Amino acid sequence: MTGTFDYDLFVIGAGSGGVRAARIAAKHGARVAVAEEYRVGGTCVIRGCVPKKLLVYASKFAEEFEDAVGFGWTAEKVSFDWATLIANKDTEIDRLNRAYVRNLESAGAELILERAEFDDRHTIKLASGRKVTAKTILVATGSAPFLPRHLPGHELAISSNEAFHLEKLPSRIVIVGGGYIAVEFAGIFQGLGVETVLVYRGEHILRGFDDDLRQHLSAEMKKKGVEIRTQADVAKIERSGTGVRVTLNDGTGYGAGQIMFATGRIPNVIDLGLDKAGVELTPHYAVKVDEYSRSSVDNIYAVGDITNRLNLTPVAIREGHAFADTVFGKKPTAVDHHTVPHAVFSQPPVGVVGLTESAARLMYGAVDIYRSTFRPLKHTLSGRDEKTMMKLVVDRASQRVLGAHMVGLDAPEIIQTLAIAVKMHATKAQFDQTVAIHPTAAEDFVTLRTPIA
Ligand SMILES: Cc1cc2nc3c(=O)[nH]c(=O)nc-3n(C[C@H](O)[C@H](O)[C@H](O)COP(=O)(O)OP(=O)(O)OC[C@H]3O[C@@H](n4cnc5c(N)ncnc54)[C@H](O)[C@@H]3O)c2cc1C
Repeated sequence: MTGTFDYDLFVIGAGSGGVRAARIAAKHGARVAVAEEYRVGGTCVIRGCVPKKLLVYASKFAEEFEDAVGFGWTAEKVSFDWATLIANKDTEIDRLNRAYVRNLESAGAELILERAEFDDRHTIKLASGRKVTAKTILVATGSAPFLPRHLPGHELAISSNEAFHLEKLPSRIVIVGGGYIAVEFAGIFQGLGVETVLVYRGEHILRGFDDDLRQHLSAEMKKKGVEIRTQADVAKIERSGTGVRVTLNDGTGYGAGQIMFATGRIPNVIDLGLDKAGVELTPHYAVKVDEYSRSSVDNIYAVGDITNRLNLTPVAIREGHAFADTVFGKKPTAVDHHTVPHAVFSQPPVGVVGLTESAARLMYGAVDIYRSTFRPLKHTLSGRDEKTMMKLVVDRASQRVLGAHMVGLDAPEIIQTLAIAVKMHATKAQFDQTVAIHPTAAEDFVTLRTPIA
């Protein structure tokens, strides 16, 4: 299969998509090399989903100790040490990193710990200057935080990359952005006792999510003490003592220990030599691909965030696997990007699958909306003023459930399972036929009887 090339497949980037593609292609018998310029595992494992979720767990203990009192517990003299958390988190990330290296090697892929870029459509130039050739090349270089470089003082700001390695917690942080990463870090810092200000240009956080969900989450975050400044933007950042002074465009400002930008991510295409290979980009600088992840050049493919389709780890993994099956497994597989469930590990957390109410109205016209807002059983004794919101969007004509949205305890876990029913085009009547598990929060999804609209 190799012919005159050094490898059948060369993968640039050992993250979620690249590692899966390399392993499956090697199992199909291909001679595979993978280049990684930073750490094997990629964003999700090293500085994304996994360390983020560990920090979310850490930040919830403060409330857990408070809530325990209503259940008869006394939790006195509790204290928190950021350095211990970061050290333990790093130990776990190192373990995962080693597991990813082992998995690649045991699949038979060769790992090259160097930056790689294109020299031409079949040739890769490594940072050491060595050149290698491959019949097929997969671009899986992911994305990087976007920092507004036009902004005075932007160099004083951190991104999520640095947030995982702060030497100490600031007493106040300003987080700029309204997407899921901004919202998640706001919950983490606030939970760990940092005074947290979220500054966002738009009217409501979490653009693209259901409007009821956006408003509900915003209200719950405010109750926990996060200051949310919407329709606001940063005008300048200046150094002030050991921290920063952040001035907003309405002239108001904050002194803070840190300012963090979570204002989107950009595909890692810079200096990749894609032009030398003739690979076309989209207007948003992502690699343009077809449903089989093939680029405009027939031996070059791309998966994951670099293609800016749905920037989630399980999607990158699916795309990597489908690519390997298509090209090396004689099984052409297109990835289905419809009805992909996803979560925001905010506090309280969010889980969603399918269409928002406004998207459903646009696509289907008449829809039935079922919504319930309630205090979770746990908080009847804890006394915490926190409400769960659940919502179903149903096509009035076919009675198919088009979307399920939840803000509240365990929402990501609940929605993961509910997503099977929504993906299978279950109807509202089939939801109703399903007997509830009592007492749970999830039972509301099968006991919502009266549409509110
Ligand atoms: C803070 C944060 C939290 C997140 N939380 C979640 C979550 O909860 N759930 C979820 O599903 N997704 C989450 N994501 C998104 C998820 O991490 C990405 O969608 C996923 O990692 C994309 O996989 P990928 O293979 O495209 O790229 P990556 O995993 O980013 O891997 C790309 C790899 O390529 C390497 N690389 C880049 N250029 C080169 C080069 N020229 N040569 C060699 N190597 C190179 C990089 O070092 C990197 O290791 C989160 C992201 C962030 C930043």
